[in-house]
Amino acid sequence: MERYDVLVVGSGPGGSSAARKCRDGGLKTLLIDKQKLPRRKACSGIIANNSQNYIYENFGPIPESVYGKPYLSRGMAFYFPSVGTIFTDVNCYQPYVWRNTFDHFLAKASGADLEDETLFVGLKEKGDEIEVTLERKKTQVQVAARYVIGADGANSHVIRSFAPEVYEGLTWASAIQKYYEGKIDADNRYLYWFLVPGMGPFPWLNLKDDQIIIGCAYLVGQKSNKFEALIEFLKKNFGLSIKSELATEGCMANTMTPMNRFFPGRGRVLMVGDAMGLMHQGGEGLSCALASGGHAGAAVIEGIKQGADAFALYKKSIRPEMVTSLDQFNPLRMKATVASDTRGQPGLFHAHSFGDELKALRDALAFVRSEFNIKGMTGSILKNSARRLLLGGYHIPAVDK
Ligand SMILES: Cc1cc2nc3c(=O)[nH]c(=O)nc-3n(C[C@H](O)[C@H](O)[C@H](O)COP(=O)(O)OP(=O)(O)OC[C@H]3O[C@@H](n4cnc5c(N)ncnc54)[C@H](O)[C@@H]3O)c2cc1C
Repeated sequence: MERYDVLVVGSGPGGSSAARKCRDGGLKTLLIDKQKLPRRKACSGIIANNSQNYIYENFGPIPESVYGKPYLSRGMAFYFPSVGTIFTDVNCYQPYVWRNTFDHFLAKASGADLEDETLFVGLKEKGDEIEVTLERKKTQVQVAARYVIGADGANSHVIRSFAPEVYEGLTWASAIQKYYEGKIDADNRYLYWFLVPGMGPFPWLNLKDDQIIIGCAYLVGQKSNKFEALIEFLKKNFGLSIKSELATEGCMANTMTPMNRFFPGRGRVLMVGDAMGLMHQGGEGLSCALASGGHAGAAVIEGIKQGADAFALYKKSIRPEMVTSLDQFNPLRMKATVASDTRGQPGLFHAHSFGDELKALRDALAFVRSEFNIKGMTGSILKNSARRLLLGGYHIPAVDK
C-alpha cells in the first residue's frame, strides 16, 4: 500500500496551502483533486489583502497569467430599489483572478505530489494511521496516511464519510454563476449586490475580461426561478443584452459560519477552508482557506516531528480564524476585521440625504425579511454578537467545549 505522511483532499486554496506547509516541513505529501486540473470554481476571484499577503509570503509572486481585467476591484456596489446604486471603495489593491489558473498555480507551487481526477471515497481510522479509499480513473485503491487534511469545499465528502452528524439540520443553498457575451450598463471595477426581494440572498454581477458574470444563490427547497428573475431585473434596470452564453458554474454553500457550527476535524483528520465552515462577509473565503491550510499543515508537522497532539494544536491555532469569521457576521465587528483595508471608507450613505438613508434601510429590511428567512440564523447571529459585546468574546463549541 502507498504510504504518505499527509494526504490532502482538495486542491483549492485551502488544500494547496496545507500541502505547501507540509512540504516545507519535509513531509511526504499527496494532494488530490477529483476534477481534471485546472478546474473552474464558482467565484468572483477577488483577492483580498490578507490573501495576497499570505500568497506572497508562502508561495511567491502571483503569475500575471492568472489575472483578469479589470486588473483591480475597487469594492462593492449595493443596489437599493428606492435609492439606486451606492459604491463603496476599499483602500487597497484587490486583483481579479480566474480561479482555474489561480488555483492550479497554487496547487503546483505547493510542491506536493499532485494528482487530479482522483476522488476521495472514504476513510478508516486505524490506530496511528488512516486508511483512505481513493478512486483513480474509476479504479478504487487504498493508500495510508498518518494524517488527512480535508479541504474539499463546502459540501465536504470527507465530512459526509466520517462525521455525517456535522451536517445534520444545516440549511443549504445552491449558487449558480453564468458567463455571457453581451452589453450591460455597469462599472467593471465593482462587484454588485442587488438588495431586491425575489432573487435570493446574493444576487450579484461583475465583469471580467469583458465577460458579464451574473450569479445568485437560493436556499435548497426554495423556488429556483431566482436566476431568471435576476436576468429580467438586469434587462430592465441595467440595460442587459445577451449575445451568447459562455459558461455556467455552480456549487453548494451552507450556514456553518453564522450558526457557529465550525468543524475543525477529529483525531488525525483536520478540516480547513470552506469545509470547516470559515467564511467572511460577502462570501470572501480565500483568506481564511489559505490561513487555515497553513495552520493545519503546521500542526501536522508538530504531530509527526515532535509527537505532539496535532489536533489539539490545530484547535488552538485556528480559533482566531473562527473568531474573525464570527466577527464578519457581527454587525458591530464586521468592518474592523474585513480581509481588505476599508479604514478610510466613509459611511455607506455619506453622499446621500438622511431621507435616502431611511429609504435604503427600509429596502434592506424588506430584502432581509424576504430572502434571509433561515431557521435559527438570525437568533444565532444575535446571540453571538450579544455575547461578544457583553462578555468580550464568543463561545465556540467546536473548540471551547
Ligand atoms: C459565487 C461565489 C463567489 C465567491 N467570490 C469570492 C471572492 O471573490 N473572493 C474570495 O476570497 N472568496 C470568494 N468566494 C469564496 C471562495 O470561493 C471559497 O471560500 C474558496 O474557494 C474556499 O477554498 P477551499 O480550498 O476551502 O475550497 P474549494 O476552493 O471549494 O476547493 C475544494 C476542492 O476540493 C475538490 N474536491 C471536492 N470533493 C472532492 C473529493 N471527494 N475528492 C477529491 N477532491 C474533491 C474540488 O474539486 C475542489 O477543487 C466565493 C464563493 C462563491 C460561491
